[in-house]
Amino acid sequence: MPKTLWDHLPSKQYLAAQEQHLVRYLRELVYPYSPYYRELLDYNRIKPSVIKTVKDMSCIPFTTKADIAPLPEDPDIPMSIVLQPTPERMKESKLSVRMKRRYARLTSGKKGFNSAMDMEFLPVHYHFTIGRTALPTPILYTQYDLQRMRECGRRLFELMELKREDLVINAFPFAPHLAFWMTYFAAEAAGVPALHTGGGRILGTHRILEALERLKGTVLTATPSYAYHLLRLAASEGRDFSSLHTLIMGGDRLPSGLKDKILELLGKVGAENAAVASTYGFTEGRVAWSECRQSALSKEKSSGYHLFPDMEIMEIVDPDTGKRLGEGESGEIVYTTLEWRGSVLLRFRTGDLVEGGLDFSPCPFCGRSLPRLGLDITRTSEYKEFELTKLKGTLVDLNAFYPLLSGHKDVLEWQLEIRKHNDDPFDLDELYLHVTPAEGMSKRYLEKELQELLQREIEVAPTRIVFHSLPRLLQRLGLDTKGRERRFIDLREGAAEAMAGFEEEAEPQESMDFEDVAETEDYEEDFADDDLSDED
Ligand SMILES: [Zn+2]
Repeated sequence: MPKTLWDHLPSKQYLAAQEQHLVRYLRELVYPYSPYYRELLDYNRIKPSVIKTVKDMSCIPFTTKADIAPLPEDPDIPMSIVLQPTPERMKESKLSVRMKRRYARLTSGKKGFNSAMDMEFLPVHYHFTIGRTALPTPILYTQYDLQRMRECGRRLFELMELKREDLVINAFPFAPHLAFWMTYFAAEAAGVPALHTGGGRILGTHRILEALERLKGTVLTATPSYAYHLLRLAASEGRDFSSLHTLIMGGDRLPSGLKDKILELLGKVGAENAAVASTYGFTEGRVAWSECRQSALSKEKSSGYHLFPDMEIMEIVDPDTGKRLGEGESGEIVYTTLEWRGSVLLRFRTGDLVEGGLDFSPCPFCGRSLPRLGLDITRTSEYKEFELTKLKGTLVDLNAFYPLLSGHKDVLEWQLEIRKHNDDPFDLDELYLHVTPAEGMSKRYLEKELQELLQREIEVAPTRIVFHSLPRLLQRLGLDTKGRERRFIDLREGAAEAMAGFEEEAEPQESMDFEDVAETEDYEEDFADDDLSDED
């Protein structure tokens, strides 16, 4: 892919180009080759030729996660959004498209033409959504798509101002997920050396720390929770990370309180001037978006995520009415693929809510003219099954706990567990909050503080707060041993099996029996002895 003026075109120009690409993409690729969208448009009597602008897209019904998720009785549903140029569909193409193809066949021969078609349309790389309640949905990339992914990665590293002299330590868990592979392709495309550790479960946390210190890693990519865990360990072991100048956080949101805690730890390991960048991405969106380096260094405000107008169209809609909203208005992010092959999506509802919506003005930090998405995104898609869980008879969004607790200065680690009283499915819901307090923190004070905070912000107080030592809670969370941390555990009937999901092996049940709680209680007493700060 040629290097373009990707980041300095005026918004008027890239929006016009975007429209042209969309019109052609819909007519020549999506409608003819995607069985799902062909059927959807036909059913709604929408001719692709009526869509001439981005605004005209409003007539296309939204696509939701449920529309493209596989069902046990129909596992092939996700294939229906994949572009499939069958010979008969190709015969129906416009004359100009057919002529172009005939010319290509004449000049490169049958074999050459077929391999070019395979390169463009044959899926060669899969990512999966993190499905726990539903079956995971695959998103497919062709070789053509992987070139685009490389280009996107190159841009991300350019936004972060990384150089060939850098060394990236990729600590995202090794899995068919976006974060790990985005880092892999970015490093490859940008020509920046990288050690892809696979995370704590593959290389081991100790070795990752060694790599950062001894190989003098300059860039760390990880989930915010894991980066926090690594830095906390490094600080306690007195390690020297003075080479580290950039942290790229992905896979989860980075609440401002957690960013503060990470910055404090960076100071303790000699990396006080490191930039801590937030990124945003979701499997269906195929790439990730990031703030620029100057924004990541700023402690006050953020540029928001720089988007790629040649790769996607983002709309912000009212989450209740679905009505398209204007620049700067908060709402739900709706995503449309542009010029991708493999899996395509039109007007995909992410379920993610963004404060401040889209901004088309040049970035106040780097001056790039790319559209930008507000930094503050409520990631409902990460823990979709926990969104609006009925708890003690009230609807509660469990995702709201994450910024409150991860960002709390007196909380080192936490885990939330929902269970039925006496494990009786007809009895009341109980909410156990497992917490490791910061050093020297009064347990009694923290208990009261958290009860009040959660009651005030989420209107649900935990049934009980259980205190743990850090190693004990880390073990429960599986930060070193699981591909994905176990931040929430739902032990109510039916929930445990659903939790087992894609990469976990039904462990929540076995690790959460009464014995576990009993052990915890023993520990609590030990802890009480050390707790000398209860004077208030
Ligand atoms: Zn910028």
